[in-house]
Amino acid sequence: MAERVIPLVDQRIAALAAKVPAHAAAPTGLLTDTRGRPLRDLRISVTDRCNFRCNYCMPKEVFDKDYAYLPHNALLSFEEITRLARLFMAHGVRKIRLTGGEPLLRKNVEELVAQLAQLRTIDGTPPDLTLTTNGSLLARKARALREAGLSRVTVSLDGLDDAVFRRMNDVDFPVEDVLAGIDAARAAGLSNIKVNMVVKRGTNDHEILPMARHFRGTGITLRFIEYMDVGATNGWRMDEVLPSAELLARLRAELPLVPLAAASPGETAARWGYADASGRHDPALGEVGLISSVTHAFCGDCNRARLSTEGRLYLCLFANQGYDLRSLLRTGATDDAIASAIAPIWQGRTDRYSEMRSSLPADASRGARRVEMSYIGG
Ligand code: SAM
Ligand code: SF4
Ligand code: SF4
Repeated sequence: MAERVIPLVDQRIAALAAKVPAHAAAPTGLLTDTRGRPLRDLRISVTDRCNFRCNYCMPKEVFDKDYAYLPHNALLSFEEITRLARLFMAHGVRKIRLTGGEPLLRKNVEELVAQLAQLRTIDGTPPDLTLTTNGSLLARKARALREAGLSRVTVSLDGLDDAVFRRMNDVDFPVEDVLAGIDAARAAGLSNIKVNMVVKRGTNDHEILPMARHFRGTGITLRFIEYMDVGATNGWRMDEVLPSAELLARLRAELPLVPLAAASPGETAARWGYADASGRHDPALGEVGLISSVTHAFCGDCNRARLSTEGRLYLCLFANQGYDLRSLLRTGATDDAIASAIAPIWQGRTDRYSEMRSSLPADASRGARRVEMSYIGG
């Protein structure tokens, strides 16, 4: 039987103080960390709750009816989130992703989208505003989200085989309803739709080709994610990871693919375009993305910060502590004070977990002390 790792302590309790320096300085938009990495991407978890129990993320055995989710007053309000997002944008953030838990479970999340869509980057452009969802509520919400100013969306879907998918989400949710959500997103005018598939060897790797065939030529980009050792509860094992190199070989055995250049610095996915008969990329057939979070670390240009549901700033998906920004918000700190508190946190950032994974002691790489992805957001 697979070993389960049950967290002994609730890591959400541990928080680092975000200290306001004696001399507050206005943000310049040019923050970099100790390895010269800029701050460009902010992922905001708007809820720690979810209506799915994907076994790689919120296994039922842990996230059961007795699990203590955050109380409502612990969550950042939409106004608090928007205020922090504005300050992060003054520090150079251009891209904002709403996530969770399941972000569409947060009541009236489209009002938050509308507030965030009003913000401007240091260049005066709107943020690249997106959201990652399990798709279960998308058919109902797509239009309101689009009207509120959401530009694009990523939908998670781990296979087309209904029985496999129902088992993986572990709440018996049908594939058909997620596909209806994707159709609704398209009909609502959301562009650049992506589908994320987490691949677990022996669980859904036989769904790779059916998924590729299904989305090829639809304008939707399918991205394969290596099953990661995030959090402390999913009982991760390396032998369940299907390395991207192997996945690519399986795809290329049937579907000709050519490598494409990265669309932007810090991009997590390696892009491969479907080729035409002459071996050149055919944009009409589209592309796939391979996110090799385990076998090929991309910490070198990681420009992502994460804001947890209760307002803690995490510098890495695998961090075990976050910096408490909520208490600054709730004790009347000025914008300059909060922005000045954020700056040294990013400037002191050294995180590069994926690069170091193989050299870490076994207990560290098993994640006994890490926060859950549903809490800090994927
Ligand atoms: N509930 C939303 C969803 O599933 O799209 C948003 C939050 S979820 C934590 C964000 C992304 O993280 C999803 O695409 C999910 O598949 C991915 N994810 C969660 N646990 C993972 C793991 N152990 N390894 C790789 N990806 C994971
Ligand atoms: Fe929920 Fe998303 Fe985690 Fe699945 S991956 S349990 S849908 S938060
Ligand atoms: Fe970024 Fe941490 Fe992932 Fe490396 S391990 S890419 S630093 S989030």
